[in-house]
Amino acid sequence: MRPVRELARLLLPVACPCGELDVPWCARCAALLAGPFGRVEHGAPRLDRLDGVPPVPVWALTPYAGPVRDVVVHWKDRGRTDLDRLLAPALRRAAARLAPALAPARLARALSPARPVAVVPVPSTAAARRARGREPVAVLARAVAGGLRDGGVPARMVPALVRTGRGRDQVGLGARARGRNLTGSVRMTRRGARALGQRSMCILVDDVLTTGATLAAVERALEGPGHDVLGAIVLAATPAPGRAPRIAPRVPMG
Ligand SMILES: [Zn+2]
Repeated sequence: MRPVRELARLLLPVACPCGELDVPWCARCAALLAGPFGRVEHGAPRLDRLDGVPPVPVWALTPYAGPVRDVVVHWKDRGRTDLDRLLAPALRRAAARLAPALAPARLARALSPARPVAVVPVPSTAAARRARGREPVAVLARAVAGGLRDGGVPARMVPALVRTGRGRDQVGLGARARGRNLTGSVRMTRRGARALGQRSMCILVDDVLTTGATLAAVERALEGPGHDVLGAIVLAATPAPGRAPRIAPRVPMG
């Protein structure tokens, strides 16, 4: 199969990941990413902290389904880094619209250019980073930080975390075991700790929300040393099993 696909790519050098020819991305796929954000944390079972504290709010641009899935897969793992120019501006625009709700007046007073919101990308595994030659989620995090600033909220990207690799390969593990597997698999780097300083307000950024186990591990890695996680922003969220792929309600803050 592979050589045929490679050949097809040579013969058809420009195509949207959904298959539309002669454009790097099509209007239909761009429209799916036009936002605004919807809240999705209640479709992510592993975000539940089981300690009475409600799950961290998560905003997604779109369901992870249909052509959006093709766009994300080509962008991350098939060398379509040019799709940065589709995804980053879409997230930036949506983040600018979300900014006033994300940092209401009482929080905004605590923020300044010297003390911005820290936009923290969820780190890839070391193996994925090597295979891709970059951290695609950092592109999204930079766009979110830019959007928050456009919306009047001081913000900067802080890549503070790494995967430790202590977690086993996820293949063959059920959702519950995956959650346990990830516990403790994210840690803060010394450089990240310095960049965050004391009691930073953080926004997490990831590409796709599935069970929420990764976000929960990242939240713990930041809250342990005393930082506050205001919420998370993702490009797309996997629809809960048995549910139609939709995001609702589209209100900024519930
Ligand atoms: Zn398309």
